Amino acid sequence: MDKLRYERPSIKQMNAGLMNQYGLKTEYAPVLDIDGVPVKKIISEYGSPVFVISERQLRRNYQNAVRAFKTRYPKVQFAWSYKTNYLDSVCRVFHQEGSWAEVVSRFEYQKALRNGVPGKKIVFNGPDKREEDIITAIKNDSLLHIDHFDELYLTLELAEKLNKKPRVAIRVNMDTGIYPMWDRFGFNYENGQAWNAINKIMASGKLEFTGLHTHIGTFMLVTSAYAAAASKLCDLAYNFRIKFNKNIEYIDIGGGFPSTNTLKGSYLQGVDTVPSIDEFAEAITNTIVNYGFKPEDLPTLILETGRALVDDAAFLLGTVLATKRLSDGRRATIMDFGVNLLFTSYWYDHEISPAQEFTQNSEDMVVYGPLCMNIDVVRENINLPLLQKGDNVVVHKVGAYNMTQWQQFITMRPKVILIDMQRNVHIIRETETLDYITELEKVPQHLTETNL
Ligand SMILES: *Cc1c(COP(=O)(O)O)cnc(C)c1O
Repeated sequence: MDKLRYERPSIKQMNAGLMNQYGLKTEYAPVLDIDGVPVKKIISEYGSPVFVISERQLRRNYQNAVRAFKTRYPKVQFAWSYKTNYLDSVCRVFHQEGSWAEVVSRFEYQKALRNGVPGKKIVFNGPDKREEDIITAIKNDSLLHIDHFDELYLTLELAEKLNKKPRVAIRVNMDTGIYPMWDRFGFNYENGQAWNAINKIMASGKLEFTGLHTHIGTFMLVTSAYAAAASKLCDLAYNFRIKFNKNIEYIDIGGGFPSTNTLKGSYLQGVDTVPSIDEFAEAITNTIVNYGFKPEDLPTLILETGRALVDDAAFLLGTVLATKRLSDGRRATIMDFGVNLLFTSYWYDHEISPAQEFTQNSEDMVVYGPLCMNIDVVRENINLPLLQKGDNVVVHKVGAYNMTQWQQFITMRPKVILIDMQRNVHIIRETETLDYITELEKVPQHLTETNL
């Protein structure tokens, strides 16, 4: 029999954060494998920390979202939001499932083309489209979602120069009952700007006006905001039909559905509070089908949901570097990953599970990352078993925005692996190297010698 691990008894000050009606939040059970692949094996083969993505979960999330909308509405198209996670393998899983690409920069646009997305299945959003980007998009017949009047005038100029009729939509912002309002992107609905933009486009005769777009926010917790947004876009589409005797081809309702992560400071766990994708689908599709369009005039519904499709498909595996007592007696656990890799720990209380069996003792603790920076806090307060140096952990639901907003800061970014449907493991992004990072640096001649 193995000798039991000794842990000294301790008396501790309560520092547990808010209780809810079920008592203290306890959130641990050991997580020994991901999709059947042992966590310890992954770490021994691919190092620590390491991001792990489940292809099975990606596909399951996508198929579930498509089902939620397609069973309620006849014409549905998804477009994968590149900025949420633009690792090629992740994008390609969604493209294989039938998703188009939604991009907000030239870099993302080029990535989508390289991932095999035909130009006319790329939705180009965002306030930063340069002249050469608009030219490329026009030549490729992409869907240009115009953000402001300056972009509209430039597009008109370029359409004339290229002697082409680009397919354009406008991005619309509106009051959906959620404050602060996201009114910095697109044309405002309430003050008439959106209608004005549509009229300018139609008066020019140089653009093919195809759709209406909005993206009302992110991690939205109320479905009624989407009903309000859909209703305002329907109003524009309806008036467009009356004035120009033409149908709008599509209404693009953007993204913003929440994942089941727990927002910092929230009373209940995310899984218990977040509306399901079916509830969002219900709110959006009810609004459109009930609006007054004849069935044959119904626009295609485009969705650009990002976070809700990838967050729970990725995990970050890591290792305890050390534990210590802070001056107030609190236990601190230092991990080999920090906010450099886990940008979302600024607003989520990420669930962290030990990756091995543990004893009965647990303690409230703060979880730090390895950076020499005071801000490097992964969890300010979490009740976990007494993790020790060398123990492994699994951080859950890290698929959205971490692998795009991560920073190369102090340390290198680690490998990302994908577990496929047959449980084969693939490296989809290598560990960064010193050469990779310094490749773009140039040292002037007078600094080549240091003579120390
Ligand atoms: C970021 C973004 C999305 C995806 O947002 P999520 O909140 O991740 O669903 C969709 N559309 C546009 C225009 C975006 O900027």
